[in-house]
Amino acid sequence: MKPDYLARHRAHDYPHLIKRWRLLARRAGLIMRRLAAGPEFNLYTVRSPRLPREGAIYISAGIHGDEPAGTEALITWAEKNTRLLRRHPFLLVPCINPWGLVNNSRTDSRKRDLNRSFQDDAIPEIAALKRAVQGRRYSLALTLHEDYDAPGIYIYEIPGATPFWGEALLEAARPHLPADWREIIETREAAGGLVRPVVVDMKIFEQIGLPEAVYLHLQGCPRVFTIETPSEYGLDRRVRAHVAVLEECLRRVGH
Ligand SMILES: [Zn+2]
Repeated sequence: MKPDYLARHRAHDYPHLIKRWRLLARRAGLIMRRLAAGPEFNLYTVRSPRLPREGAIYISAGIHGDEPAGTEALITWAEKNTRLLRRHPFLLVPCINPWGLVNNSRTDSRKRDLNRSFQDDAIPEIAALKRAVQGRRYSLALTLHEDYDAPGIYIYEIPGATPFWGEALLEAARPHLPADWREIIETREAAGGLVRPVVVDMKIFEQIGLPEAVYLHLQGCPRVFTIETPSEYGLDRRVRAHVAVLEECLRRVGH
């Protein structure tokens, strides 16, 4: 049975979230576009008026619907940074899995993990998202997630441009959340909350399906981060930690 109190929490209210994005887009002069029409909910992107082929920044949230700090953090950060969003090139995806958010579910309505589905163009939402992403080289990509097993925040940094940023991003989050102390996170080696493999082993993804972050890496983005906050902590702290990491990233790209 679906836990009713979770479904009713504001952070799981997709129509309300989209209302906030609509308001923000109007106020900031951003372009909000319907990417795909789902059976119950539509999928949207919000982009800056100028989005050149090189150097844009991609940020997405809500591919897993039971990880609401990501969707909440992205709108919270955007509401505070309308001028930045108008002046610099951003492509934002407020919530990739609306059905999941409303139903507090990792998967979509057909039990698919969309973050293992970027090879599958038969999924209309994934195909539409890939069309929106393609044709540009992003300088930075962030995908916002949560983990209910985690004792602290952790970050996957796909090895790309150096010097690496992972340590500094965790440091920026520290006032809000401790770093995950585990030495193995989801079967991967970790240190101080940082998971940064030496190389991206594509064989694994051929078996388990392609995650969004790896897809963005394959599109040529030199800095791709997956931010994972621990869902046992209060929503406020998780949101603040995501926002702090986001702000540190943008400070580092000079915005
Ligand atoms: Zn996730």
